[in-house]
Amino acid sequence: PSGRVAFLGLGHMGMPMAANLVAAGYDVVGYDVVPAAVEAAAERGVATAATAGEAAAGASVVLTMFPSGRHLLDAYRGVGEPGLLDAAPAGALFLDCSTINVDEAREAAALAVAAGHRSVDAPVSGGTVGAENGTLTFMVGAEPADLEAARPLLDVMGGRLVHCGDHGAGQAAKVCNNMILGVTMIAASEAFVLGERLGLSHQALYDVVSTASGQCWAVTTNCPVPGPVPTSPANHDYRPGFAGALMAKDLGLALSALESSGVSAELGPLAARIYERFAAEGGAGQDFSGIINDIRGRSGT
Ligand code: NAD
Repeated sequence: PSGRVAFLGLGHMGMPMAANLVAAGYDVVGYDVVPAAVEAAAERGVATAATAGEAAAGASVVLTMFPSGRHLLDAYRGVGEPGLLDAAPAGALFLDCSTINVDEAREAAALAVAAGHRSVDAPVSGGTVGAENGTLTFMVGAEPADLEAARPLLDVMGGRLVHCGDHGAGQAAKVCNNMILGVTMIAASEAFVLGERLGLSHQALYDVVSTASGQCWAVTTNCPVPGPVPTSPANHDYRPGFAGALMAKDLGLALSALESSGVSAELGPLAARIYERFAAEGGAGQDFSGIINDIRGRSGT
């Protein structure tokens, strides 16, 4: 692999992704605003910089893994110091893997292109396990030539890649998928609680739904009750998995995409409210399938 990769945002996802690039022979220079994150990355063999600008100087790829679009836009423009767009050499590939607002992703891409760079949005699914094992799925929004430039790196960090369209299309696909996931997990959990009240065993309901028209990932892979799917978080005290806080965040992004595109959806916004409440009332650190306990609580069980 040729050219330096600046890796900004060495958190739960970024740190193992950066470590996988180093292991594959890439010249990676990492930076995070949190010193402990920088130290943890250094322990995994990632070279580190003292500032974001120092990391980006001389980099042919500027890879970001931030909490939100606000963080991304601030880092691109720079707040009180030169931003990444100024610090990177002309023509650098700006590869954002964060999960952010579709509108902000398009704004970030436009800024990068206006500054003479190339832009790829490539949010991921697969969680921290996928980040560690290099098996993430990337949903990519980019011009074809820019995707090809990013592909070797994405192949190191992930196992699957879908080119969804131009700038912002990766974020658009991610937000649509996770809106389905949030809604179906609530529906599946309500059905299991109803089944309990109607005297059905979890296994009987699972055996029907998993092969009938109610079939969905929320039931067959991440089943909200213990037993039928031994690997689902319900069997392990609802330890994530996919945390309630992240589901609340992704549904918030869906809500904003629904609003800005004028789509009159009802279930997506309702799921967003339900997960926001779940996260605020103790579910933030639990797997999102823990929503079933919230439904039981409201049902007096
Ligand atoms: P995280 O909070 O652990 O990591 C984000 C890191 O970015 C933090 O260490 C933070 O200090 C750093 N940061 C913020 N602003 C910065 C700046 N200007 N310069 C340098 N560093 C900066 O979050 P995470 O769990 O690693 O998630 C990252 C992104 O991936 C999020 O958008 C999230 O929604 C998405 N995602 C996470 C998961 C998951 O399971 N954790 C799964 C899929 C997608």
